[in-house]
Amino acid sequence: MKKQEFKAESKRLLDLMINSIYTNKDIFLREIISNASDAIDKLHYASLTDDSVNVDRDDFKIRVSFDKDKRIITISDNGIGMTEAELDHNLGTICESGSLLFKKENENRENIDVIGQFGVGFYSAFMVASKIEVLSKHFGTEDAYLWKSDGVEGYTIEKSKKETYGTDITIYLKSDDDSYEYSKYLDTYVLEDIIKKYSNYITYPIIMKKMDHILKEGSKDEYEDVEKDETINSMTPIWKKSESEVSKEEYDEFYTDTYYDYESPARVFRNNVEGKCTYTSLLFIPKHTPYDFYGKNFERGVSLYSNGVMVMDKCPKLIPEYFGFIRGLVDSPDVSLNISREILQEDKEVSLIAKSLETKIKKELETMMKDNREEYEKFFENFGLQLKFGVYNDYGMHKDDLKDLLLFYSSKNKKMISLKEYVDALADGQEKIYYACGETYDKIDLMPQVESFKDKDYDVLYLKDYIDEFAIRMLREYEGKEFTNISNEDVNLGSEEDKKIIEEENDNNKDMLDIMKEVLSDYVKDVKFTNKLKNHPVCLTSQGNLSVEMEKVINAMPTDEHIKAETVLEINKDHTIAQKLKNLYETDKDELKKYAKVLYSEARLIEGLPLDNPTEISNLICELLSK
Ligand code: ADP
Repeated sequence: MKKQEFKAESKRLLDLMINSIYTNKDIFLREIISNASDAIDKLHYASLTDDSVNVDRDDFKIRVSFDKDKRIITISDNGIGMTEAELDHNLGTICESGSLLFKKENENRENIDVIGQFGVGFYSAFMVASKIEVLSKHFGTEDAYLWKSDGVEGYTIEKSKKETYGTDITIYLKSDDDSYEYSKYLDTYVLEDIIKKYSNYITYPIIMKKMDHILKEGSKDEYEDVEKDETINSMTPIWKKSESEVSKEEYDEFYTDTYYDYESPARVFRNNVEGKCTYTSLLFIPKHTPYDFYGKNFERGVSLYSNGVMVMDKCPKLIPEYFGFIRGLVDSPDVSLNISREILQEDKEVSLIAKSLETKIKKELETMMKDNREEYEKFFENFGLQLKFGVYNDYGMHKDDLKDLLLFYSSKNKKMISLKEYVDALADGQEKIYYACGETYDKIDLMPQVESFKDKDYDVLYLKDYIDEFAIRMLREYEGKEFTNISNEDVNLGSEEDKKIIEEENDNNKDMLDIMKEVLSDYVKDVKFTNKLKNHPVCLTSQGNLSVEMEKVINAMPTDEHIKAETVLEINKDHTIAQKLKNLYETDKDELKKYAKVLYSEARLIEGLPLDNPTEISNLICELLSK
């Protein structure tokens, strides 16, 4: 018998567990029972798909018992069991420990239900145990093995004896102390309560021995106490109960217990579908973004069941990526039990269900947007990015499905609005949907270009997520109204008359502007006077398809490729600086060149772009200020 140490990371989690920062110790039972149920699932599944495995569905059970004198609780299952190697591997390491990561990131936040959120499984038993023994025999093997650990020093595994396949987990309760009464678990009613609360929908019977007060045999009035097996859990999957039977609270509880969320879901929706495909789905929209949602290890997908038997825990094929926030399950008699991850990709039934689910989810979101705008806005704050990616990805294949679910910040309403709302409220004579991009709404609001739109009472959508403009470009138009970046050189709200005036102004000052353009030839395509600005002296606009914002986004990506938007320096024709430039053109052309550089730098700063040559510019400014 060899003594093994826990892997380093496991040690830290164990430590966390033992000196529990988590106050709800009751969940250890849920974790152990849920493992037992998984182990039975595995054997059940094998029996349905492998002829050599002969077990009867009706024999499956999980038994919970305790011994008051020995201070032990035992949880037994007749599931698949573990071999020696599996005991060593499965109970010796805590894989990819999400909770540790989470703990590190949130060290300073208090009262976080860390463990409750993740379900760290087996190890949670050390919250209440001073010692744990796992006696297991893998189905179809002869030998049983006993794994023992007191949680601190490591564990041992030795050969042992066990009649039947499956696993017995024995928990030796800690002694009571001032902080906690561990003996409370040595009570039928306490255990029963915990099982009902957290494991009610486990699909196999969870059995406990209970005292029954019954008439003595042959007697008419004499009673006796007899121990009898009783199934504690309801067993019927919650999605198989008739809808009128299940309360919102029950769904919420199912959700929080199954997905380890500390908050109830924003939305629960269940569908029973018959037709091209037949299935029941129970889906949830979380109230908040899971902590690792945008991380690369986040596993998308809902669980797939075939007539109550779980076929796959996370089936990504069922839910499109842009609805990746959906949690829940699908149960369909049409899905073959033998399905593997590989065939799943091509499975016709699964594709049909996926298509149908997508429509249902979309409808649910539309209803949410209509009936409870506040809730929808909250939802969009959490998951809107996902939807915008959905518009952009796959060459815009899904844009029409998603466009009405989008919200953008409206400069006029100072809140999030849909594209439909924007178009329905167009100002007189407005033909386009205008948008502006920047880092924050406040910063966009201060952009020089925005001023003239405000003047005209045109609404402008403010875009601050980096994906925004890419998604908008993919959409191109909404209800025939083209999306237009107000920073585009071509955008001009002036009248024909105004346009003529500015054209003349540019023609008249062509030589002067050419000198400025020459100095800035490495940076801008053009330098010109504009009538777009009211109080501001300059702005930077872009020609063609690539905006300055897009340049920033693309260049921030970790590739070697660097691109440049084709920009134009526009100078307010009515600003005093315009006259100053004209004067310099007559008197001091060198000085004019310096002004060109400074004005261009100003325009870049306003756009939130860095200067290539900050020292040169700052020296120039000082030189000009000192005059
Ligand atoms: P998780 O259940 O999240 O994988 P646990 O720490 O709870 O993590 O369990 C680790 C592994 O140990 C399980 O994935 C499973 O393979 C194995 N295991 C735990 N309990 C049992 C059991 N009762 N029967 C068979 N295998 C088990």
